[in-house]
Amino acid sequence: MSRVYNFSAGPSCLPEDVLKECAAEMLDYNGTGQSVMEMSHRSSAFKPIIEDAEKMVRKLMNVPDNYKVLFLQGGGSTQFAMVALNLGNKKGKAAYIETGVWAKKAAAEAKALGIDVDVIASSKDKNYSYIPRVEKISGDYDYAYICLNNTIMGTHYEYIPDTGDIPLVADISSCILSEPLDVSKFGLLFAGAQKNLAPAGVTLVIIREDLITETPRANTPTMLSYKTHADADSMYNTPPCYTIYVLDKVMHWIEKNGGAEGMAKRNREKADLLYNYLDSSSYYHATAEKGSRSLMNVPFLTKETDEEKANAINKKFVKEAAEAGLVNLAGHRLVGGMRASIYNAMTKEGVQALIDFMEKFAKENA
Ligand SMILES: *Cc1c(COP(=O)(O)O)cnc(C)c1O
Repeated sequence: MSRVYNFSAGPSCLPEDVLKECAAEMLDYNGTGQSVMEMSHRSSAFKPIIEDAEKMVRKLMNVPDNYKVLFLQGGGSTQFAMVALNLGNKKGKAAYIETGVWAKKAAAEAKALGIDVDVIASSKDKNYSYIPRVEKISGDYDYAYICLNNTIMGTHYEYIPDTGDIPLVADISSCILSEPLDVSKFGLLFAGAQKNLAPAGVTLVIIREDLITETPRANTPTMLSYKTHADADSMYNTPPCYTIYVLDKVMHWIEKNGGAEGMAKRNREKADLLYNYLDSSSYYHATAEKGSRSLMNVPFLTKETDEEKANAINKKFVKEAAEAGLVNLAGHRLVGGMRASIYNAMTKEGVQALIDFMEKFAKENA
């Protein structure tokens, strides 16, 4: 068996120790004679799993007691609607900072649901290659919305806007537990699991209790009300049991490796290696501006500026990298070039192997 270095933006690589544990327990979980995939979500075997997953999220993210931790479905994208339907129920007005595809989609969804959306800042002028500086947000808003790490553009907030009494909502799908985060600064955080937590299928929501409303906007479906899920401890309907089980294991792996602080140290080392190489290279360059760079997603281009030639060279890069065991390096079409996603589970060895390949490729193709 040979494992590749997987730089996919999501679903993405998981810690090998976690996969091995899952494999060992596949046919018989903890003496039950069943896989976790097969058991009732109401069973006495599954209950401790979801309880431990919540306990571990609370512990690793230092979640204050007045916040609920929910395990939902529908991915990050369903949160675009849930946030608007539940938090936008008073004035019907919200502030969005537009930093790329995911922030734009969230704003568009809110608008479609009747929210008066104010885009208070945007980095569209430079193809979203930086994070606008908005230290303070004030106004007549039900909530303010940011995408903390922009998976496609490779940008990340190096500050948290001060919103005063306005609840701050953040999409942390691609940076959750990559470094410490002060949950108390936010009204609501959400993350689709398939980037940094687990396989696809569960969406983690951390919501301040006073924002769990009994009166979401008109015609909100039962399944899209946070109250439905909060009241039922994420068991209103069948939760994605197996994904939650893997998430719990990933939480323990993070704890063993130093928690959020340990992840930050590991991630900074990896990102520094790659950015330092890109910044010193005469063949490649990073597309995200310094001061806004993601630790998790690193898009980069070659110096080839002719579009047709660039497309050909990018294709060649991705193909030869895959042959060398470095997979899923194609860039997003909106940025072009390549993108290396180096989530928590990516090792420093993996990043070094990528750099070694890049250097060889540059020599052969420059
Ligand atoms: C991947 C991603 C999403 C979309 O997640 P789905 O689970 O596919 O709906 C939303 N926001 C960010 C920042 C992402 O990286």
